[in-house]
Amino acid sequence: MIPLQFSDIQAAASRIAGIAHRTPVLTSRTANARANAQLFFKCENYQRTGAFKFRGACNALARFTDEQRHAGVLTYSSGNHAQAIALAASLSGIKAAIIMPHDAPALKVAATKGYGAEVIVYDRYKENREEIGRRLAFERGMTLIPPYDHRDVICGQGTAAMELFEETGPLDVLLVCLGGGGLLAGSAISARALSPNCRVIGVEPEAGDDGRQSLAKGEVVTIAVPDTIADGAMVTHLGQHNFEVIRRDVDAIVTVSDAQLVDTMKFCAERMKMVVEPTGCLAAAAALHGVVPVAGLRVGILVSGGNVDLARFAALVTA
Ligand SMILES: *Cc1c(COP(=O)(O)O)cnc(C)c1O
Repeated sequence: MIPLQFSDIQAAASRIAGIAHRTPVLTSRTANARANAQLFFKCENYQRTGAFKFRGACNALARFTDEQRHAGVLTYSSGNHAQAIALAASLSGIKAAIIMPHDAPALKVAATKGYGAEVIVYDRYKENREEIGRRLAFERGMTLIPPYDHRDVICGQGTAAMELFEETGPLDVLLVCLGGGGLLAGSAISARALSPNCRVIGVEPEAGDDGRQSLAKGEVVTIAVPDTIADGAMVTHLGQHNFEVIRRDVDAIVTVSDAQLVDTMKFCAERMKMVVEPTGCLAAAAALHGVVPVAGLRVGILVSGGNVDLARFAALVTA
């Protein structure tokens, strides 16, 4: 297969133009002072459906043939990819079925149903969602669009960093929230093309450092489902397509603790007036807590999503 390149991301950008939002890039003097750096926050919490996942979903569905459109789309997701596929499908008149874990946040399940998708529930500790997905795709003839291990998904996600660099020019460091690696792989491709000297760094939860282990070992490492408040990054392994790009274009992978995520949620709310979900804080936490040395540098931060129940948000920030 031909390795993914920046022209693939440019093609994705033109497919999703006018459908996905061009999200704002925010700055904060308080954040800059705290990190002693110039921070640029690319705010995908303001993306349609509340997370960058809408980009990849739109790009993947835009490439469906008439036959695929007719049979519909199927996916599995702990939340944001589900909402993204559900909305993207409904906007283009495609039927969607979503396999979701029984303990997915209620807000995400409700939103997915609200976009008109059929929700199929499974037990994430006992059942294998990839297997259920393959079986249903076979039985129903639907096309499976997984949340990260897919070329069109990676290219769609890469459009967020592309927009960021278009606005800021070259950066010294780009910090990206990391789960299965769709956002990180796409961002890295954009960074290599638009800011070749920028260090691209993935940030994952401390409890689930499979990405860091994979980069060190040179192959995809699988771990147990991590126990973290970052529900969007509760994945057990990087995708294969993702890993190929990550080992080629990503400089490092670091981790942050749940306590650092909570502190960052508070900072975003108090100082920047933004609601950011725990997973959406991964990259910002690495900059604000000195996990990555950024002093004196120009730093891009992907804020990946803002979907968190208000009750859960309140419980986390007041604990
Ligand atoms: C899915 C998701 C991530 C992780 O993205 P991957 O492409 O799986 O690495 C990070 N933040 C949010 C808000 C997400 O929904």
